[in-house]
Amino acid sequence: MSVLDGILVRSGFGTLPADFYLPQTPTPLPAPCLVAFNAPLAEQLGLPAEPAASLVEQLAGNALAPNAQPLAAVYAGHQFGVYVPRLGDGRALLLGDIVTDHGRYELQLKGAGRTPFSRGADGRAVLRSTIREYLASEAMHGLGIPTTRALAIVGSDQPVYRERIETAAVLSRLAPSHVRFGSFEYFHYRGMGEQVRTLADFVIGAHFAPFAAAADRYAQLLDAVARRTARLVAAWQAQGFVHGVMNTDNMSILGLTLDYGPYGFLDHFEAARVFNHTDRRGRYAYANQAGIALWNLQALAEALSSLIDAATREAVLARFEPEFVRAYGELMCRKLGLRESRAGDADLIDRLLQALQDGRVDYPAFMRRLGAFRPGDAATRTPLLALSHAPLAIDAWLDAYAARLASEADADAVRQSRMDAVNPLYVLRTHLAERAIHLAVEQRDYDQIDRLHRLLAQPFTAQPGSESYAEPPAHDVGEIVLSCSS
Ligand code: AMP
Ligand code: MG
Repeated sequence: MSVLDGILVRSGFGTLPADFYLPQTPTPLPAPCLVAFNAPLAEQLGLPAEPAASLVEQLAGNALAPNAQPLAAVYAGHQFGVYVPRLGDGRALLLGDIVTDHGRYELQLKGAGRTPFSRGADGRAVLRSTIREYLASEAMHGLGIPTTRALAIVGSDQPVYRERIETAAVLSRLAPSHVRFGSFEYFHYRGMGEQVRTLADFVIGAHFAPFAAAADRYAQLLDAVARRTARLVAAWQAQGFVHGVMNTDNMSILGLTLDYGPYGFLDHFEAARVFNHTDRRGRYAYANQAGIALWNLQALAEALSSLIDAATREAVLARFEPEFVRAYGELMCRKLGLRESRAGDADLIDRLLQALQDGRVDYPAFMRRLGAFRPGDAATRTPLLALSHAPLAIDAWLDAYAARLASEADADAVRQSRMDAVNPLYVLRTHLAERAIHLAVEQRDYDQIDRLHRLLAQPFTAQPGSESYAEPPAHDVGEIVLSCSS
């Protein structure tokens, strides 16, 4: 008996009527082997830190806990702005819920085989993409950014065909809910208003208890989702994260970072940076993310139009931009070590980003090193200027920054410790993820996954012996582009 048998219960989502999903058992994964296991998360879930073979079998989809009721959820979505009326879980299966002291989590297996929504694809995930999702979810969590979580990766020798032959793996993913904007769109565009209402009531009942009984609960739902999404994208911008595929089927109704594909964290600062090589027009470029989030919220609002009148929808969506600007400004002020935001700070931030871009300056390294800047000590400028191809602009900006700091009269060391708590030393840079993937795929060496996971779980704290992980890439990896295939 696996320990999961005792803690997995029937999913709340699975109590919805049959319109919302199709039952589907996982396809067995031959000769499964544990690639990564998130022991701290396991412990929070009431699982042992060392997984038994029976748990690995279950996380591979080869055995089912007694209460597991595997199902594939239906959803639709706007992909690159184009409406696709039927997507759904093509390779993810919801097994059930795990109830913990701090809430209830859906347990999904991603890559568990074909479902009625696979649309001709194989229902599998490749080891490369599961490592990317595992590391990114835990890096986001370490940064304090809302995200789905990753419990384990189970690999196999089963060949999977992408641009080349790879091997299949299953990622176990957890979130309070995997409902997406596209889940609502599916029913709305089929004229199934009752199901839109049922889904909205389910989401509100399970996740938005404070307004569950309010007459205007649907407007409050849209408002809550818009605010959470604004704060989420503000955090992405502040920490240099590019999601890469912000289609409405990848937008979480809880404001979580969801569906890690061709994402990336910025090394050098570049507003137009695109990580997804199929995104030729740069729809999902770094600088477009807030605008796209609003576009996606408009699509969600449209999907809820049978429940919320047009004037209310418009009024709610109008609050997105100010919320984003406020949240982003607040985060950036914290990253600059400013106690309170003042008029002129937005301009100071803009000028910094322009100087970073002009000098191809490494964004995480600059922000982290900025904590050690001492206005009265010219020598503390050197490590900052050394990051730039155009140091004069950085030097001029530091003058303006020094003047701004003088207006706060804060002790340098105090400011630095505040800054170190928001400017990560360790970031899931593309070359670090690629190295862990290379070792895993080519040499079955999984230690780098674990090593990176441990660093990224505490990204603000220096860990002795890990200095090289905090450095910008040795040569410019600006041109690494990521395949959308996963
Ligand atoms: P994504 O781009 O990963 O968000 O996926 C978009 C849609 O394609 C979703 O409905 C996925 O379930 C589906 N999908 C992606 N990859 C596969 C695959 N290998 N097999 C089946 N369905 C897939
Ligand atoms: Mg998706």
